[in-house]
Amino acid sequence: MDILWILWTIPAVIAVEETLMDSTTATAELGWTVYPVSGSSDNSWEEVSGYDENMNTIRTYQVCNVFDNNQNNWVRTKYIRRRGAQRIHVEMKFSVRDCSSIPNVPGSCKETFNLYYYESDADTATRNSPAWMENPWIKVDTIAADESFSQVDLGGRVMKINTEVRSFDYNMIQYAFQDYGGCMSLIAVRVFYRKCPRIITNGALFQETLSGAESTSLVAARGVCIPNAEEVDVPIKLYCNGDGEWMVPIGRCMCKAGNEAVENGTVCRACPSGFFKPTQGDEACMQCPINSRTTSEGAINCVCRNGYYRTDSDPLQMPCTTVPSAPQTVISSVNETSVMLEWMPPRDSGGREDVVFNIICKSCGGGRGGCTRCGDNVQFLPRQLGLTETRVYISDLLAHTQYTFEVQAVNGVSDQSPYSPQYASVNITTNQAAPSTVSIMHQVSRTPDSITLSWSQPDQPNGVILDYELQYYEKDQPEINATAIRSPTNTVVIRNLKPGSIYVFQVRARTVAGFGRYSGKLYFQTMTEEEYNTSIQEKLPLIIGSAAAGLVFLIAVVVIIIVCNRRGFDRADSEYTDKLQHYTSGHRMKIYIDPFTYEDPNEAVREFAKEIDISCVKIEQVIGAGEFGEVCSGNLKLPGKREMFVAIKTLKSGYTEKQRRDFLSEASIMGQFDHPNVIHLEGVVTKSSPVMIVTEFMENGSLDSFLRQNDGQFTVIQLVGMLRGIASGMKYLSDMNYVHRDLAARNILVNSNLVCKVSDFGLSRFLEDDTSDPTYTSALGGKIPIRWTAPEAIQYRKFTSASDVWSYGIVMWEVMSYGERPYWDMTNQDVINAIEQDYRLPPPMDCPSALHQLMLDCWQKDRNNRPKFSQIVNNLDKMIRNPNTLKAMTPLSSGVHLPLLDRSIPDFSSFSTVDEWLDAIKMGQYKDNFANADFSTFDVVSQMTMDDILRVGVTLAGHQKKILNSVQMMRAQMNQITSVEV
Ligand code: AMP
Repeated sequence: MDILWILWTIPAVIAVEETLMDSTTATAELGWTVYPVSGSSDNSWEEVSGYDENMNTIRTYQVCNVFDNNQNNWVRTKYIRRRGAQRIHVEMKFSVRDCSSIPNVPGSCKETFNLYYYESDADTATRNSPAWMENPWIKVDTIAADESFSQVDLGGRVMKINTEVRSFDYNMIQYAFQDYGGCMSLIAVRVFYRKCPRIITNGALFQETLSGAESTSLVAARGVCIPNAEEVDVPIKLYCNGDGEWMVPIGRCMCKAGNEAVENGTVCRACPSGFFKPTQGDEACMQCPINSRTTSEGAINCVCRNGYYRTDSDPLQMPCTTVPSAPQTVISSVNETSVMLEWMPPRDSGGREDVVFNIICKSCGGGRGGCTRCGDNVQFLPRQLGLTETRVYISDLLAHTQYTFEVQAVNGVSDQSPYSPQYASVNITTNQAAPSTVSIMHQVSRTPDSITLSWSQPDQPNGVILDYELQYYEKDQPEINATAIRSPTNTVVIRNLKPGSIYVFQVRARTVAGFGRYSGKLYFQTMTEEEYNTSIQEKLPLIIGSAAAGLVFLIAVVVIIIVCNRRGFDRADSEYTDKLQHYTSGHRMKIYIDPFTYEDPNEAVREFAKEIDISCVKIEQVIGAGEFGEVCSGNLKLPGKREMFVAIKTLKSGYTEKQRRDFLSEASIMGQFDHPNVIHLEGVVTKSSPVMIVTEFMENGSLDSFLRQNDGQFTVIQLVGMLRGIASGMKYLSDMNYVHRDLAARNILVNSNLVCKVSDFGLSRFLEDDTSDPTYTSALGGKIPIRWTAPEAIQYRKFTSASDVWSYGIVMWEVMSYGERPYWDMTNQDVINAIEQDYRLPPPMDCPSALHQLMLDCWQKDRNNRPKFSQIVNNLDKMIRNPNTLKAMTPLSSGVHLPLLDRSIPDFSSFSTVDEWLDAIKMGQYKDNFANADFSTFDVVSQMTMDDILRVGVTLAGHQKKILNSVQMMRAQMNQITSVEV
């Protein structure tokens, strides 16, 4: 294992020695006290001048009594002040004569002397005190010479000088040197103590510190960080040892952020401008990274220049970065209701590597100008936001809908930019797609040989559901034996089953785009005969009881009971069930109540419209202008219910009480209806301002503009599907005895599944005279949309469901001509006259004759001859089920109704040339085209087909239609002329 040892050292600093006494510096006599008193005996220490090794004059003490026994010669220094030192060192330089080199020397000859000290607070010593003996004196040591010499020669030539140091940790005042029989010279005595010096180390300043009392003692010293440095972790300390050396460093100070250590770590200097240091530490200041700068010296970071940013996790050394440019070249490939988007990464990543992509999905259906964000149901694979790859697969879009996808490029700093991310967008229109899977199926009833099942519509019908296919087989049989049956509705009775058997069922929906996938398998069991008999017995009293409520019902039951034999009972049961349902629904059928029959129309609002608290409504954007104020889209979140997208009609401020009443009357009417093809009222806001009517949201807006925007885009079946929906809604309304009076494509709304719903139940425009809308012409007793209205309603205001049927025929024409204006630019009066003369609108381009025939039926002069809405629904259902019936196109009607001659186009027979005729139909710009293609006589022109018109070089759709219609008129006029002639 590798171990990394981290050492830090203190620079070698020589300990400071503070001298308390130095015999060598004495300029005069040392004058130390000797014992026995000098002079009174020759034997005592004697002060002698001499030279040190550098030949400086020094004062020394000598003694040499080797021949006398019992020597006891003392020399005592003067009183030495300790000056606070704890540990005192004595350095002695001396020379000692080698006893063996002295001839005849007795055995008592010594080559050592003793060193004593005496401690005292004051200089109290006298000649005899302290007494010259160990105790009171304290012996430090017997000092021996490392080297002795053979011949005393104070000239210093052969003298060997020893240096010995002794240290003490006691207070002391004086030293005494005891000679007890040697021949020696005390050349120099120096008394000193040691200190640890003032030092700057490890980023801190340590003041001079006295060493401790013992050689081993450590005196702790706290350091003070140098300016702009700070302690790291622990308080910084050094220890001063007995020898005046610093050791054992603990903690350290380091230059603060924005400062760097210079001058060998003794100074922390602020980073110069353009440099920064983000943290405390030993590192040097760094240069600001690209796209950043400092604002002052001593910077701890560099701030990004305008338009550049850093994320929290970006290292400060990293250049500042910016937002990415838009992704490049988004390519889409649509497959039914899915789309794969692929794009190239942005040219400029902003200097970052964390570019990801977000997809913003907007559905722009309905051509109402604005686009709205897609709902939650759209699926994104791998995900919608934060895509790291440059492709995404988007599914579960609505069929036949325009979408705009914005591919945003974002990176780690995008959210700091005040601007929204740059994006590249792509517009797509989804294709038709098969419906999604039916997810819920349940059993309604069962008998021994039948099961009645019902299921919900697929979540994504992707168009008008033409019918359902139910497949079933006995559980124990192989799937290959499955039977499939079709049902135009979402309920079906499966008959001829075996009693008490389990069957497997699966259902799938069909639109013009084909079948959806089968639902999951569900198992239902028929009744056994026993179960059935018991259930009938249980039911009978109930049946009879409830039958008493209605004679019709009773007769039905009696008839059933009479006609049923035991075996036939089951079959009769389903008949009975049908009747019961019919009876019940007939019984429950509500009749529409005109809100104006209420004395207080507010009462009608309260009764039919739910009051919504304004806090539940969130308005998002204005989508249109209604009669009374703006129409907005928004969200409605009712407590306990899922948030839903809604349309909000508002009543502009400054309204009169009458306007408020008229505005809300629409809600009181709508609130009475509940049908999939009638716009659904969510509620009203009347307790706060503005007053609002909240309805379900219809993504594609009104039918007329929707068709105009999608001219030629739908199959006939899809158009018929829309018409079927409208007819079904109208059937419901007429069943409720409600007469719409203003059925027109502009008053039909279309949702994202192309489901059409009847809307616009406002009554006011018929009543008021001041509307400026030319669609509604004043007539005696109100305003009437002439082109849509049946003659009897125009003439004597006979508005009935039959007059609604007339209007429905006009709506059919509008639908099949993709929003063309009925009777084009004829005046209202011309329209009235033409109708009176039995002229009727001709079939729109590509209109199947069956449909035009149905229109003509709706436009029967005698309203009793017009079909009922229920018949229209059945008729359309048949067409949907039998698309072949829609193949035949009308040449020109030969029925009782004359095709309408467009009165805005003068009769061709009043012109002598094709050029004049072209001028008259305001298509003069194509004269040359016609001439060049040899369409220069009326005979040839009257035979022109759409292909011919295209070939001539008419490319604008509107012009093509205009010319084709005029050609058709010409042909009709020719036919009339011919028939008159005949
Ligand atoms: P109205 O006053 O009903 O004629 O509404 C005016 C316009 O607002 C219509 O032509 C539609 O474009 C739009 N609008 C009304 N109701 C809805 C709705 N439920 N969903 C979507 N758009 C609507």
